[in-house]
Amino acid sequence: MNKELPTTKSTIAPKPLMVFEAARERLIGFALEARRQIARQGEELCDTFDSTDRVLAEAVVSPMNVPPHDNSAMDGYAVRLADLHANASDDSVSIALPVSQRIAAGGESAALQVGTVARIFTGGVIPSGADAVIMQERTQADGDLIRIQNPAQWLAGEAIRYAGEDIALGSVVAPAGTFITPAIAGLIASVGVASVTVNRPITVACIFTGDELAMPGQALKAGSIYNSNRFVLNAILKNLGCRVIDLGHIPDALEATRNALREAALNADLIISSGGVSVGEEDHVKPAVQAEGELDLWQISMKPGKPLAYGRIRKPDGGHAQFIGLPGNPVSSYITFLLLAQPFIYMLQGRIDKPPLKVQMQADFDFPRADKRREFLRATINDNGRLALFRTQSSGALTSMAYSDGLIDNPPMTSIKRGDWVSFLPFSTGCL
Ligand code: AMP
Ligand code: MG
Repeated sequence: MNKELPTTKSTIAPKPLMVFEAARERLIGFALEARRQIARQGEELCDTFDSTDRVLAEAVVSPMNVPPHDNSAMDGYAVRLADLHANASDDSVSIALPVSQRIAAGGESAALQVGTVARIFTGGVIPSGADAVIMQERTQADGDLIRIQNPAQWLAGEAIRYAGEDIALGSVVAPAGTFITPAIAGLIASVGVASVTVNRPITVACIFTGDELAMPGQALKAGSIYNSNRFVLNAILKNLGCRVIDLGHIPDALEATRNALREAALNADLIISSGGVSVGEEDHVKPAVQAEGELDLWQISMKPGKPLAYGRIRKPDGGHAQFIGLPGNPVSSYITFLLLAQPFIYMLQGRIDKPPLKVQMQADFDFPRADKRREFLRATINDNGRLALFRTQSSGALTSMAYSDGLIDNPPMTSIKRGDWVSFLPFSTGCL
């Protein structure tokens, strides 16, 4: 603990930067290990009504058929096809049958008498013996009778929604690991399940480094900027269903950083820091993590976002809190969060998710500046259905995240010409 800390200078790694994909896989490996520890802390029962943003610990199995009974998809007449087919030859143009009952949605139905039809409304229970519903637009009233044109044309199942057609009794409505979106909560409610077993939410502590940081509402001193990362990070973490311990802003000093890491480790599963993780003399996160735990990963070959760090911080009980150090530049911080921290968090939460959607789209711009690193360019979808490069690609310009539609994933040493096909990660489909 008291041994001399390496100077910032001697910590600069001369070796090549870690390839993005390798870093992501290593992070997922660490997250999997951490998930095993967190899973031991158990599960909770939660009212379905309050279950959005939680993660299912157990699959929800449907205790019923949806729809619960065969019902009509139309306003019309339930018929026995045998009546229609028996009395109809190919050249007979219509048949007229009496109405023996009336069935509205929510009401009961009796067996359909032979040689009759039942007036039925959308959602009405199909009477036993009926095997099709003729929509009312295809019938005519003929005194007390209902006349059906071309009776031979109707087939079994016409306009009937069968019991269990959407969800069968005993089928899995949502598997364990499902993140409960509003649609999933509705789906669980639709099979009458009032409570669900969910994973304990994970706790994430946040620290924002930088002597220059001020909060909105405070006057800016010369050289200061507002702490926008604090707003972005808190909001995303809450959207992901994490409990957030926001430790706020700390100065650029080693002791202050170490103290903050120790405090954060007390109650957090994961600590996320912002800034102070580069190679400057004011960057104290890396040595602080090395002093308070261990650092496993630092610097990734990606642009923006090179100075990302991963490690663990000791807890007083002998365990560890996971640690991710995001860069301070607002765009770098946001992009590394989406691409590396978010999948890590999903894993800690026990979520099973499809990988974020990546689509191929055509560029409507030239980008001659190939970079050595894998580059994530902010782009919008234009009126031609192609991608336009956002006007600034500065890692400090948060407008590029707020007003673009997603990220172009551009491989190292690759320039782009108008019309080229590129990989695009839309923010709207899981990248965020
Ligand atoms: P750092 O990673 O600490 O070297 O910071 C890189 C850049 O990001 C600097 O221009 C910082 O002023 C800026 N920055 C750091 N932290 C934040 C923050 N929380 N909000 C907005 N900008 C920040
Ligand atoms: Mg800084």
